Amino acid sequence: MSRRGERGYGAAVTSAERPLLFLDVDGPLIPFGSSSAHAETAPADTSTSAERGNPLLQRLDPGVGARLTALGCRLVWATTWVEEANEVVAPLVGLPDLPVVQWPDSGVEEGPRGLHWKTRPLVEWADGRPFIWVDDEISAMDRQWVAAGHPGPSLLHHVDPSKGLLAADFSALAEWLRAVAP
Ligand SMILES: [Mg+2]
Repeated sequence: MSRRGERGYGAAVTSAERPLLFLDVDGPLIPFGSSSAHAETAPADTSTSAERGNPLLQRLDPGVGARLTALGCRLVWATTWVEEANEVVAPLVGLPDLPVVQWPDSGVEEGPRGLHWKTRPLVEWADGRPFIWVDDEISAMDRQWVAAGHPGPSLLHHVDPSKGLLAADFSALAEWLRAVAP
């Protein structure tokens, strides 16, 4: 029943090609909120070497991986953590190894003023496929640029970096997915 070679440019997407979900770490998974207290009170001898290296990792929600997986998207790391997202973050949130977007050297292809440096590489990575981008640094310029240059459906979902991904965020993602890839 799947239509090989066709991409879901229209309203519906085949189940074989679930939308991509580009996932940022700092902000969405590691909130920068005012809860510095609990990040510093955990006894150091119970943490792994990775956690000792970065106390912010204690802000990771160990259940967030399951909620992300339940969305049914093809999850892709889109973060300055690059490979360390798989090595350090994934095991702490219950995610398997995921593909990682590699970033071009800065200044290689500057976009218009105000465009996030991730936006062009993500659109190129998506290559017309439907995608969600979850990040705390999405702006109106990114939305305009994606709408103009990306032929498939897209959802640029801004997350409040002081709170990280909340139930309301997951509801918004699920609602978009129901409409685009039922
Ligand atoms: Mg971020």
